[in-house]
Amino acid sequence: MSDTRPGHAPMDQFTVVDDCLQVGGIPLTRLAARVGQTPFYAYDRQVMTRRVESLHAALPEGISVHYAVKANPMPAVVTHMAGLVDGLDVASGRELRVALDAGMPAAEISFAGPGKSILELEMAMAAGITLNLESETELERVAAIAEKTGETAHVAVRVNPDFELKTSGMKMSGGPKAFGVDAERVPALLARIGELGLHFRGFHIFSGSQNLRAEALIEAQGQTFDLALRLAESAPGPVEMLNIGGGFGIPYFPGDRPLDLGPIAEHLESRLPEVRDRLPEAEVILELGRYLVGEAGVYVAEVIDRKESRGQTFLITNGGLHHHLAASGNFGQVIRKNYPVVVGNRVQGTEREVVNVVGPLCTPLDVLAQQMELARAEIGDLIVVFQSGAYGYTASPTRFLSHPEPVEVLV
Ligand SMILES: *Cc1c(COP(=O)(O)O)cnc(C)c1O
Repeated sequence: MSDTRPGHAPMDQFTVVDDCLQVGGIPLTRLAARVGQTPFYAYDRQVMTRRVESLHAALPEGISVHYAVKANPMPAVVTHMAGLVDGLDVASGRELRVALDAGMPAAEISFAGPGKSILELEMAMAAGITLNLESETELERVAAIAEKTGETAHVAVRVNPDFELKTSGMKMSGGPKAFGVDAERVPALLARIGELGLHFRGFHIFSGSQNLRAEALIEAQGQTFDLALRLAESAPGPVEMLNIGGGFGIPYFPGDRPLDLGPIAEHLESRLPEVRDRLPEAEVILELGRYLVGEAGVYVAEVIDRKESRGQTFLITNGGLHHHLAASGNFGQVIRKNYPVVVGNRVQGTEREVVNVVGPLCTPLDVLAQQMELARAEIGDLIVVFQSGAYGYTASPTRFLSHPEPVEVLV
């Protein structure tokens, strides 16, 4: 455990009884039998519920929380989240169908993403959701569809801000970007929306992901409010929604500290009066993915073989990179670090050892844990990767090497 403990304890989301991890209150060995196969992903609905409740309790009154479906689009998860949050953000036509199936009202669904197809734009307009426009071309396409079908186009402008979210896992703004319309070009776009007579909803300003530093998030949120207030002066109608992005991170690696919501909430509270005064109709929205679901999920694989090689022990499992690219370190990490891992059916174990946990793929990239101290595992034991509720299954190349796919359960 030494390498998962400093800074955070992801296992705190779950209980351990008789040295066996419980997910959704079910001992992992029993859950594995119930699922009927390994590997699998298990998501704990109670952990998601607690997370959204504590976030709402920390945030000032009147800040809405949206769930970014791409973090975990499993329909059962989206349906559960739909009952907890104020809206859903989708990034494809298929995610849109999942969001609508989850029962979220169209007025609370928005669709962002560059390169939306004509079909996706038509689906979105037929459903009556809000389209976050990513370019001038997209605006003209939307207007043409509105003209053809007689449907109302509800549009917001996704802005590529003139600042960035510092020290982010993934920067998505500032400088030249594929996302959104450059802030300096937004006034002209707003004028065109007015000319075309579309229903203007507001702004979407998302500047980055996976940030654990409250100060960096506060700085970006402050700049986001400033930018939105400035752009609102050129708006063709009242700003009804102001999506200020998210970027809240979760601790993955040794030394990572959970995000401190306190100062973020204080800062939001301090800016809200001015926003309410100048944009009285605006719903202020935080859109979050991994922060809401990432810690609620585990990935479980089974030990198929134990091997020694020149002084190191290798646990070979039936799961790996093809199911969980992020845990293998190949989803945007520069230096590979271990996700928190335990042997789920002997969490502490009496005997400990330092091992490499690898998958069955014929590539040295297929690693789930490198030189990590775990309980001594035998063939048939269950390896658990924590922090796997977001960007797991659907962010992985499941067809690589043609092994069976994992299954997903919500418990
Ligand atoms: C991916 C994405 C999110 C979710 O990011 P997380 O890091 O999971 O919170 C939110 N908004 C937009 C526009 C995105 O592209």
